[in-house]
Amino acid sequence: MEVNDKEITEKISSTKIWKKCLSVIKENVPALTYSTWFTPIKPIEYNNNRLKIEVPNTFFIEWIEEHYNTIINNVVNQILGKEGKLLYVVLDEDVANLEMTNIIDAPQTREVITPIVDEVRPEFESYLMPRYKFDNFIKGEGNQLARAAAIAIGENSGETSFNPFFIYGGVGLGKTHLMQAIGNRIIEKSPSKKVIYISTEQFTVEFIDAIQSGKANEFSNFYKSMDALIIDDIQFLIGKERTQDYFFHIFNRLHQAGKQIILSSDKPPKELKGLNERLISRFQWGLTADIQAPDFETRMAILKNKAESFGISIPNDILEYMAHNITSNIRELEGCLIKILASASLNSQEIDLTLAKKAVNEIATGRQINISIDYITQIVCEYFEVDENKVREKNRKKEVVLARQVAMFLSKKLTKSSLKTIGLHFGGRDHSTVIHAYNSVEKLLSDDKTKGIVESLRNRIELGVS
Ligand code: ADP
Ligand code: MG
Repeated sequence: MEVNDKEITEKISSTKIWKKCLSVIKENVPALTYSTWFTPIKPIEYNNNRLKIEVPNTFFIEWIEEHYNTIINNVVNQILGKEGKLLYVVLDEDVANLEMTNIIDAPQTREVITPIVDEVRPEFESYLMPRYKFDNFIKGEGNQLARAAAIAIGENSGETSFNPFFIYGGVGLGKTHLMQAIGNRIIEKSPSKKVIYISTEQFTVEFIDAIQSGKANEFSNFYKSMDALIIDDIQFLIGKERTQDYFFHIFNRLHQAGKQIILSSDKPPKELKGLNERLISRFQWGLTADIQAPDFETRMAILKNKAESFGISIPNDILEYMAHNITSNIRELEGCLIKILASASLNSQEIDLTLAKKAVNEIATGRQINISIDYITQIVCEYFEVDENKVREKNRKKEVVLARQVAMFLSKKLTKSSLKTIGLHFGGRDHSTVIHAYNSVEKLLSDDKTKGIVESLRNRIELGVS
């Protein structure tokens, strides 16, 4: 095949650009999703802000479009610019042997992503993802009350006595899904309503930015102007006194004006130790509903529904195998199904029990090995706003010592690493230093606030590797 200079340049720049895109995507999707759906993609060509990428088959495109449209749109905007476009090319057997130019011009080329412009929507990012709907939220014993209340609020936001609506429960059980579904429903009914979904982490980051640029009032006013405010994982407000303060005022204003507030957390309000009491009491004004792990029937129903939504039928014994083996996290259950579909579609393989066993095993090992000491250190340092390198150096500043000790403590708790290995990760410290750190943190846990911080860090670490 003759290759000219232009093609070579395009190839190099497309690789570079795609790498950039991948780095953003990687930050924003679970590791399993990333390796299943994004690493098999190959960049082909880049010019005029258009990046052409090759995907294994159309199932891939459909999946990516349905599930990762928001993130892809953001990446396109961020990296390729406002005019940017991502073009998918499907390489199927018929065209596999043709030269590259032919593949690009092949009828399989689809322009699938165009920036979404919605005229009715107010001018801000609502962070609502269309895939989270009540329709695809399966009802089960574990989520009955939360679901029913969520639907009621979606229909009559601000007018029910469920204000605030507080959902709590373990990781991967559908809290975010339900909250987002409420938001989507409110907008569906009244497109001019201002609804925003935000994670507590993002809220905190925005708040700090606002403070630093002298715009704290604008920050408050923006949130006070919402018709519905949805804040996810509110436990991460623990230890953030100033953000709590501003949030308190936002809460009061919205509540007085009859605007809907929706919150989620890993624990019920009264167990959010270390959170300002006046917030805890307000969280209990409305309705608190928990979500429990789904029972076997619900897990089956969720799997069936998911498989159906891809137009794929999977034998019952395989679904049962999954539902029996993955019991406490719906995100993992979905991850397992994705894994199976992906390997089946990549290798043109039958979906059978061997494939299912392999996927279940990968999920189980992923759960254990994915938590690394470095990852723990990163999350802890982010929380304490301490430079990661400092905890590995001989720095004795109070906040650095605390971050280091908490990171060591959590490394001991959450990984199988020996004390020696943990010491090595923190600038080659001795194993006795790790023991000392462990004991110091354990003592600190008698203080409710510290306990709250350490617990929420632990959850965040475990959540991040789902
Ligand atoms: P949480 O916020 O509680 O950690 P998510 O809302 O992110 O959990 O749910 C994890 C995944 O499981 C999501 O993809 C969500 O769509 C799915 N999911 C959770 N509960 C249900 C349900 N009852 N029916 C269908 N899908 C669900
Ligand atoms: Mg969530």
